[in-house]
Amino acid sequence: MTIIDGADAPYWEGLAEGRLHLPRCAGCSRWLWPAVSRCGHCGSEDIAWVERAMAGTIFSWTRTWHRFALTEDIDLPYVSAVITVDDCGIRLLGRIDDPGQVDPVIGESVQGRIGKTHVAGRDIPTIIWSRG
Ligand SMILES: [Zn+2]
Repeated sequence: MTIIDGADAPYWEGLAEGRLHLPRCAGCSRWLWPAVSRCGHCGSEDIAWVERAMAGTIFSWTRTWHRFALTEDIDLPYVSAVITVDDCGIRLLGRIDDPGQVDPVIGESVQGRIGKTHVAGRDIPTIIWSRG
């Protein structure tokens, strides 16, 4: 069972449907992340959730070699990354496919797809980013 609530609920609902939805203030057009219920720039509570392509560039990354709590179902090693989504500048945390353990490059283009991460007995939709 997935519990979805809070200001970022449309993000998680979108991922569960295979889409990336990100929040944009309808008052001042700024992209807002993390999700909020009220724009901190103009005060508007009119937040539009806009579908974006799962395309971006690598902002940072790290390869994890050692198991820690709640990662029992993820094959080691794995690469976590912060990806800057194209055309909006929002940065999202996700995982990068890591065949051959070739180090990712900051600024490299990536394409995302929806996968799942099994954590604490439940599947959480996760963006898995692929290089080149
Ligand atoms: Zn605003």
